[in-house]
Amino acid sequence: PVVVRPSSRAFASRTPALRLKIMAESDPVLDWMMGEGGATKILRTSPVGGGCISTATRYDTDAGSFFVKSNRNTGPSMFEAEAAGLNAMHATGTIRVPKPLKVGPLSSHSRGSFIIMEFIEMGSSRGNQTELGRQLGEMHKASSSEKGFGFDVDNTIGSTPQKNPWTGDWITFFRDHRLGFQLQLIKDTYRDNDLYAKGQRLLERLPVLMKDLDNVQPCLLHGDLWSGNVATDTNGAPVILDPACYYGHNEAEFGMSWCAGFGPAFYDAYFKVMPKLPGFEQRTELYKLYHYLNHYNLFGSGYRGSCTSIIDSYLAVAR
Ligand code: ADP
Repeated sequence: PVVVRPSSRAFASRTPALRLKIMAESDPVLDWMMGEGGATKILRTSPVGGGCISTATRYDTDAGSFFVKSNRNTGPSMFEAEAAGLNAMHATGTIRVPKPLKVGPLSSHSRGSFIIMEFIEMGSSRGNQTELGRQLGEMHKASSSEKGFGFDVDNTIGSTPQKNPWTGDWITFFRDHRLGFQLQLIKDTYRDNDLYAKGQRLLERLPVLMKDLDNVQPCLLHGDLWSGNVATDTNGAPVILDPACYYGHNEAEFGMSWCAGFGPAFYDAYFKVMPKLPGFEQRTELYKLYHYLNHYNLFGSGYRGSCTSIIDSYLAVAR
């Protein structure tokens, strides 16, 4: 058979249906949409802004709309981890998250990958903080893990690797795979031995600082809950996106609260579902520290001061 490439002159003379078929042969996203996705026509594609890491596109087809993210620089594992997180949250049947549909490589001979998911039409309302708090609490409450703290796959927080090996004890998990991992990365990247040394002293004191947490149960966390990852659908229901999921202590979910704009209505509704544990206020900065350290790793020493002052304040009390 004659191979007609989308760039060839022969391509232009084919019928629209045939052209789409030819394009799908060299485009795995179109290939999925016209196969499992059930589309026979692509009505429109349009870029979606707002993302930090990947290129986002809306595909409107005669079988409905799809949301596609693609990234030329990473293999499929990043999107496979995102899909695993979205599926896990979806399975709780609580807060709305987009259903992932397909992850794959962009081509067989180069790097690059894509994820296709349900397209959610977003509404314009600012979002109902009470509903967000309640439904997030429901997600935490509905989830349970028989394997302890961690997740089935490693993922990324921003573009930093986030390791999730299953661990029986929360303090060990948080010490080694959250704070400890970021501190090591800061040392390796910036040679910041002072912050690293202080951080090590903090890690030694975690059992004292987190002493109320002996019986903490693992909950499924979104893991990167800031305002950029929270939206509202056209019915006004909250939607959470772009997760870095793992099973952890529920309070760790508020580690990005300094970029989330959660108000009193949010926390009131949340704590009605997931009651506040003793010592909550004493731990909030520890959970923020993980994300401040990550911001230092991602964006540089502008975040060093915040990291240092949190560590210093805990070292001052835990003697
Ligand atoms: P990135 O991983 O590159 O940061 P995001 O997952 O944050 O990208 O997505 C970028 C933007 O696309 C979001 O801010 C949101 O507005 C929009 N978006 C994300 N997922 C969907 C979806 N399933 N349906 C519709 N819009 C979405």
